[in-house]
Amino acid sequence: MTQRIAVLGATGSIGDSTLAILADHPQDYTVYALSGYQRLDKLFALCQQFKPTRVCVPTKDVDSFAQRLSAAGLSIDVVGGKAGLIDIATDVQTDTVVAAIVGAAGLPSTLAAARAGKRILLANKEALVMAGEVLIRAVKTHKATLLPIDSEHNAIFQCLPASIQQDHAQIHDVSHGVRKLWLTASGGPFLNQTFEQMQRASVAQAVKHPNWSMGQKISVDSATMMNKGLELIEACHLFDLPEDKINVVMHPQSIIHSMVEYSDGSYLAQLGSPDMKTPIAHALSYPNRIDSGSQPLDLFALSALEFIKPDLQKFACLRLARQAMQAGTQATIVLNAANEIAVASFLDGQIRLTDIADINERTLTQVSVSTLGRDADIDDILAIDTLARRHTKMIVSKMA
Ligand code: NDP
Ligand code: MG
Repeated sequence: MTQRIAVLGATGSIGDSTLAILADHPQDYTVYALSGYQRLDKLFALCQQFKPTRVCVPTKDVDSFAQRLSAAGLSIDVVGGKAGLIDIATDVQTDTVVAAIVGAAGLPSTLAAARAGKRILLANKEALVMAGEVLIRAVKTHKATLLPIDSEHNAIFQCLPASIQQDHAQIHDVSHGVRKLWLTASGGPFLNQTFEQMQRASVAQAVKHPNWSMGQKISVDSATMMNKGLELIEACHLFDLPEDKINVVMHPQSIIHSMVEYSDGSYLAQLGSPDMKTPIAHALSYPNRIDSGSQPLDLFALSALEFIKPDLQKFACLRLARQAMQAGTQATIVLNAANEIAVASFLDGQIRLTDIADINERTLTQVSVSTLGRDADIDDILAIDTLARRHTKMIVSKMA
């Protein structure tokens, strides 16, 4: 039987990689549903190529998109907005949801998929940063399956014992001999540049990642290393470990995608070309393996693998992520919201790249929210998110 896949965020970079794999394995996977947001011409072309059963666009575009599809002779159910994304994520026909929407916008559909007991391939790290406890609890309660496709977390997942993989990848304690996790970080385009050079960086320089080709938001996050900060928080929730059990090491070659350190001194690492098709294919076919179409690693061409300690002054966002994780979920929601606004403001030309960390820190210290209890739900989370966004916009408007 084929697995019916809903790709939420189909028009983005993760969407591209996912659909490239699905196109290569039509006998194993059916593209059941797709979603897009602004790039609707691209979404239309994907509808022509993959002929999904359902598609989701912003609410205002539902009618015109439906007309366009029917004029092209395509009979596809068009749904709109957040409700449309949730409808697709919970559809009884959907087996697997690829959660590849960027930012907080990806949270409601990801959570809905968990509550519907789906198999979720998670790219959207912001969902875990905002709602880690709620999302993991929903996965366990509703017997959903959460498979990380963020390359570092996918690498760690692959290096864990099968018994932990099958227990929702939750390590809980050190009884399995796991001593630490090591997240690798490329360091992005400014690894070897000074803070002053970073301060003068243009948008084009900031989004030009040395090893990976990704969407704009995550590319800026990689330049500030907020991406590694978000991934640290993501790893705490995914693997149920405190932040002090997770180390970050700079590894400019992006060949080792992360490591698990065991108590006997073994370090298990997952290596591969820096290509998101590998972790996506792993999660699609787990526990089996399929051809991802990525380039094999040329080990003879690798001259050296370097490991460097991160500079937390230059990359203050990484320090902020640890602080927020120690403070609690309310702080990680604030940090994520502040960062989304700050990154959008940088991409808009309103602030400098290095202002992002300042703005994030100011929002974290200035927005006061009470500690979220264990029974907190998505509405409580979104209320904090809204409050923090409003505050960050005020900081940005004063700076610009
Ligand atoms: P892109 O910007 O390339 O794609 C984002 C997708 O989300 C697009 O389909 C976009 O639609 C859609 N989208 C944006 N805003 C909204 C919204 N408000 N409502 C509904 N849909 C929306 O991002 P990436 O593919 O690079 O990243 C996606 C997620 O995966 C992020 O959370 C990122 O951190 C994570 N990730 C990405 C990696 C990568 O290599 N790219 C690696 C690991 C994790 P449209 O384009 O039509 O506007
Ligand atoms: Mg990553």
